[in-house]
Amino acid sequence: MIKRIFWPDIYCKSVMDIDFKKIYKNGFRGLIFDIDNTIVGYDNFEIKKEIFDLFIELEGIGFKICLVSNSFKKRVVYFENVLNIKSFNTALKPLPFGIMKGIKYLGVPKNKIVMIGDQIFTDVICARLNSIFVVLVEPIKERIEFVNKFKRKLELKILNKYVKKKKK
Ligand SMILES: [Mg+2]
Repeated sequence: MIKRIFWPDIYCKSVMDIDFKKIYKNGFRGLIFDIDNTIVGYDNFEIKKEIFDLFIELEGIGFKICLVSNSFKKRVVYFENVLNIKSFNTALKPLPFGIMKGIKYLGVPKNKIVMIGDQIFTDVICARLNSIFVVLVEPIKERIEFVNKFKRKLELKILNKYVKKKKK
């Protein structure tokens, strides 16, 4: 049980590697994306063309989409405007406040929503606490601050166990 709260349902290298068509086929209709280190680097405003294309493709498939980020308003609203995807900032993940707003906005039952993020201690736990299917991706850019290095070490330990278990 303790392990499960740290473990994603799917672990992928990048959002580009997620099989969203299969996810749609499996009945999921809403997507909640983290921003920093999931769709863009955590320390800049640069969005790759493949990310623009991805969101267009996802809307084409029929998904409802929003962004839920722990980052501050100015940064998050920038991505909302440029990508034209509704966002919720200062979400305080893993606490439920931000993600609740996202769920309400999507208007889709929780069991049909997928959360996509790069951090176990925010995104995965947040999804787990809300009984939402969760895809973990590798962070786009490793953070260098001490606290994040420490967190990342713990994440990698957990992921090692997860990957070993999945292989069995
Ligand atoms: Mg992130």
